[in-house]
Amino acid sequence: MLAAQESGRVSGDAGLVAEETLDEAGSQPQQNNPLVRRALDPRAGVSTQRRLERDLKTAVREGGLALYYQPRLALASGAIVAAEALLRWPHPRLGLISPATFIPLAERTNLITEIGGIVLRGACLEAVPWLAAAPGATPPIVSVNVAARQITSGTLLGQIAAGLHASGLSPERLELELTESTVLEASLETTLTLAAIRDLGVGIALDDFGIGYASLATLKGLPLTAVKLDRSLIRALPEDREDAAIVQALVATGHALGLTVVAEGIETEVQRAFLAGIGCDEGQGFLFSHPQPASAFATRLMAMAGEAECG
Ligand code: C2E
Ligand code: MG
Ligand code: MG
Repeated sequence: MLAAQESGRVSGDAGLVAEETLDEAGSQPQQNNPLVRRALDPRAGVSTQRRLERDLKTAVREGGLALYYQPRLALASGAIVAAEALLRWPHPRLGLISPATFIPLAERTNLITEIGGIVLRGACLEAVPWLAAAPGATPPIVSVNVAARQITSGTLLGQIAAGLHASGLSPERLELELTESTVLEASLETTLTLAAIRDLGVGIALDDFGIGYASLATLKGLPLTAVKLDRSLIRALPEDREDAAIVQALVATGHALGLTVVAEGIETEVQRAFLAGIGCDEGQGFLFSHPQPASAFATRLMAMAGEAECG
């Protein structure tokens, strides 16, 4: 088992970059860097785009991607119950690039399936030290975003098995996040894959819920364990009465279906208090923490465990 302080340098084992490189890339994605904007502009010349594609391929093959973790808290107790693994690309020239920018590139170039395997394996390996970091308390689960192509290409189950096997992580401590569009296209193959994932004991959350078209009938037919309310619904809470009413209805719907309801993008104490007041189970957002490298997350867990022991 990896010690907590070693969790940041699992580059050899997990196929992710060493944390020293992350320090050089900065802690937040650099979307405002003019170099990044120019390189990622869809109107950029073919040669610029090709170069970026080549860079991404190199990063994937040579362990040049990193995972950051954002805690998810139980709104009633404030305990950390999960952490979402969020992919980052520390580009040697352009700094830290956000997944919102390079995931579409990965989908266009078919690298997404390979990236999905790296993320699952890396997240499982990096979550193992949290067991030691949260003594006494229930360790948080690790939640991993999954692209539709991982399911349609038939690779997802194998990637999960490989991640669990390499790390020894128990399946109950892993959760996958799928978006509405992934499950809406739910073919028989997708439904069977999701059922097999649940049979393993791995959780399944519906991400960005509430802004797409997932009907209640669709939700009912899927083996979900949680729904994550999209942060665009949380932004104007509680002043926006319509959003407040929608969120309240979605929390009730999630509960009626027996699911854990998580709010994304909580940025203010007023939003937290409103969501806790209407019975939303869990929350995630900048109010609690920005996404951070694995070792920083483990340090925070240890600090919380220490505070709990002291009283
Ligand atoms: P998501 O899964 O919905 O992740 C939540 C996003 O919201 C993250 O952006 C997170 O940094 C951001 N966020 C969290 N709290 C707040 C807040 O309080 N305010 C605001 N404004 N934003 C907040 P990020 O890391 O840029 O990721 C963007 C999207 O990229 C993710 O959305 C997910 O769909 C995708 N993604 C990330 N990692 C992976 C991955 O490993 N595989 C795949 N297929 N997609 C990924
Ligand atoms: Mg997510
Ligand atoms: Mg989301």
